[in-house]
Amino acid sequence: MNALAGTSRNFRLASRLLGLDSKLEKSLLIPFREIKVECTIPKDDGTLVSYVGFRIQHDNARGPMKGGIRYHPEVDPDEVNALAQLMTWKTAVADIPYGGAKGGIGCSPRDLSKSELERLTRVFTQKIHDLIGIHTDVPAPDMGTNAQTMAWILDEYSKFHGHSPAVVTGKPIDLGGSLGREAATGRGVVYATEALLAEYWKAVKGLTFIIQGFGNVGSWVARLIHERGGKVIAVSDVTGAVKNQNGIDIPQLLKHKEATGSLTGFSGGDSLDPSELLVHECDVLVPCALGGVLNRENAAHVKAKFIIEAANHPTDPGADEILSKKGVIILPDIYANAGGVTVSYFEWVQNIQGFMWDEDKVNKELKRYMTQAFHNIKTMCQTHHCNLRMGAFTLGVNRVARATLLRGWEA
Ligand code: GLU
Repeated sequence: MNALAGTSRNFRLASRLLGLDSKLEKSLLIPFREIKVECTIPKDDGTLVSYVGFRIQHDNARGPMKGGIRYHPEVDPDEVNALAQLMTWKTAVADIPYGGAKGGIGCSPRDLSKSELERLTRVFTQKIHDLIGIHTDVPAPDMGTNAQTMAWILDEYSKFHGHSPAVVTGKPIDLGGSLGREAATGRGVVYATEALLAEYWKAVKGLTFIIQGFGNVGSWVARLIHERGGKVIAVSDVTGAVKNQNGIDIPQLLKHKEATGSLTGFSGGDSLDPSELLVHECDVLVPCALGGVLNRENAAHVKAKFIIEAANHPTDPGADEILSKKGVIILPDIYANAGGVTVSYFEWVQNIQGFMWDEDKVNKELKRYMTQAFHNIKTMCQTHHCNLRMGAFTLGVNRVARATLLRGWEA
């Protein structure tokens, strides 16, 4: 099942649990606006190359639409649509005053030079600048993009609209970015994990973790789990996988990756087949990379007791069913990885107020939001006798439906 079908299916299940009107259900599913633009740039050798860029604005009932921009070869409209929809439910679960959107360009950022990436980002911004804005749609980084990408968007946008730091979040600190934003998604994942484990009288310390993906999110999750005394026994990224049953020395692995750009050749562990990693014995499995990695083929072999969805839609509906039957507890993406967009909200607030917070305040507020959201999800689970995924979906969908009805939507 593709990402859009899977996400829409979860939405419909939640909508039925909530007893939403079928016309409201339909209107909540259809995106507010879908933007598709052609971006042609000269490569460094002077040849022209064209890319297709997307921005899908899903819903704005609760506030400006919010979500990342992804640079990845697999970016396609269905995928972006699913991710935009997930942002709508995610911002509602986190209870921040936003709707949902997502963008992307189908490209391979690893194969582009820095100046090519800059040109591509500026052309994309020229094509969408009239449709984004502080109170309409606020982009942020996602896979394949980072603070530098946001700096280029801000600079290009400002040529048309004047200096507007709050038009993007996840910016460099020097341009009005928030302290703690870089680590926020990973930190939020760890706060979410702690809230879940506390329900089972467990803590991170002493448990074994497997982390799939070692980019921004995965490396922060690994670092923070390690700091708390959790044993990270295996890690993977696109370059390979490494395992050490006694626990990987994460600061050493980070140094190795920084020096070599790869996980392979690390002396503090043995190499492992990346496909093996997801089904390796552990207490907690944390997928931090692409969607759909847990599917019908591998779900039955998963041995983890808990799955924390740091990635967006890593578990397809087929796998969800198999894992639930096995009794695996899954902490869903629209809650587990909401720390990134939550600190994006803090960044936006700081930019609008013109008053910057210290990192301690950012992290304290992030913990408060993540803990509160977990308790709200649990309440929905009790009310609707459902699992955590449906608890999160019913919480998010209900808030968006309420805002839509209050604005005067008529059935
Ligand atoms: N790309 C991140 C996400 O999927 C962050 C979005 C944001 O900060 O707007 O949640």
